[in-house]
Amino acid sequence: MKTKIISITEGGKEQDKIYQEAAEIIKQGGLVAFPTETVYGLGANGLEEAAAAKIYAAKGRPSDNPLILHIAEVKQLERIVKQIPDAAKKMIQNYWPGPLTLVFEKADCVPYGTTGGLETVAVRMPNHIVAKRLIQESDVPIAAPSANLSGRPSPTKASHVAEDLLDKIDLILDGGSVGIGLESTIVDVTVTPPVILRPGYITKEMLTELLQEEISVDPALIQETETNLKPKAPGMKYRHYAPKAELIIVEGSSYQMARKIEELAAKQAAQGKQVGIIGTKEFQNEYRTGFIKIIGTRAQEETIAKNLYRILREFDESQVDIIYSEGFSSEHFGQAIMNRLLKAAGNKRIVLSEQ
Ligand code: AMP
Ligand code: MG
Repeated sequence: MKTKIISITEGGKEQDKIYQEAAEIIKQGGLVAFPTETVYGLGANGLEEAAAAKIYAAKGRPSDNPLILHIAEVKQLERIVKQIPDAAKKMIQNYWPGPLTLVFEKADCVPYGTTGGLETVAVRMPNHIVAKRLIQESDVPIAAPSANLSGRPSPTKASHVAEDLLDKIDLILDGGSVGIGLESTIVDVTVTPPVILRPGYITKEMLTELLQEEISVDPALIQETETNLKPKAPGMKYRHYAPKAELIIVEGSSYQMARKIEELAAKQAAQGKQVGIIGTKEFQNEYRTGFIKIIGTRAQEETIAKNLYRILREFDESQVDIIYSEGFSSEHFGQAIMNRLLKAAGNKRIVLSEQ
């Protein structure tokens, strides 16, 4: 199969035709990669088992890892879920369209081939013009996981999608770089109070304030290494977002952490290893060894999220043997960044004690 790549960033008369062509592929059971505000998604008709099966095949995704259904209007939600609890209604009013996925009890029309065999279905309304128009024109909920090969970092621009999926899918809609750069927050609303299954841009602090009760994160995500708890979002149990090199997260207070990273990097380099460092602007002057990538600034954690997956992919190209990264706080958006970094590192971390 030859993958067509169409740029959709510029306006113009051509646009209508492009969306019609893309929607026709979805209706015919094909695969279209498209930008959302979080990461690029790999879309197929979410109500058709055979179409969803093609997503699993193209990505090499384990079949028990369910897909998120993307909708453009709340009307579509009523058709694919059994009920919409009050807490979900509040979250929808405040955060849809946006980077928030809600897990409901599924209606009969949603095939098990989309939900990985579960009785629940995850749904999101993306806040991106291309995603929105594609869903509207296709006139079906679009099942779309991240448009990467399973295990690779999620794509934040169209060239990342092409790197992983060229000639395995029908079409890539190139809408430029995405805004957020990390996957959506996933919240299970089948339980009271709702539980966060995957942290993201919409934080536990934001949801706690909105719902006026303490919202917690699935304990399996936090204690994965110490216990045998299984994450409730099946995808979270797989090593994910992984670069080819060994990645180690160093956590500690300010300069102590940066100095430790430089010390470890220098030791590895002395043994002939190619070393990479992921550091923030605040500590850039501490680093001298190897490939140093400044990921963003701690003053604005959005900048860090936006660059994370691109930098992990770039390290694959520069063929480093080992990467050291600064750690981040487990509050606010930092929790999502740390969650993805630890996944990428297969939980390898060095925690420095306060001095
Ligand atoms: P991706 O779109 O690639 O980020 O993957 C979708 C994520 O949503 C995976 O981690 C899934 O485990 C999670 N997910 C999808 N549907 C459900 C569901 N019904 N219950 C819990 N988690 C889900
Ligand atoms: Mg993914």
